Amino acid sequence: MEERPFPKDPWYCVALIVLGVLGLTAACVWLAFRFNTVWLAGVPFLVVCGIMVCRFRRCPVCDQKLSPRRQFLGDPWDTRFRIVLDCERCQIAWKTEVVGDSKFDEMSAGD
Ligand SMILES: [Zn+2]
Repeated sequence: MEERPFPKDPWYCVALIVLGVLGLTAACVWLAFRFNTVWLAGVPFLVVCGIMVCRFRRCPVCDQKLSPRRQFLGDPWDTRFRIVLDCERCQIAWKTEVVGDSKFDEMSAGD
């Protein structure tokens, strides 16, 4: 499987997302005060977060759904890993900037 870096959004896309989230937050707060309900404020916010996560998990080439997996960095004793998104159709492994540590997974699971 070919490895490629996951393309980053151009700055105006990031700016639009940030503005969108800020605007949505303001709208949610206004809705919550206007109708005096908290759940009404949370629902649109969750929907947008869901859309953003779905968008992130799409192949930039064929728009197919990607399956995330962990790719451990370097040495076998190194617990750090990178999130890689596999596209079955293109046979491309998209390397993201998201890096985690399985050491912390075990710690949080042990609590
Ligand atoms: Zn693809």
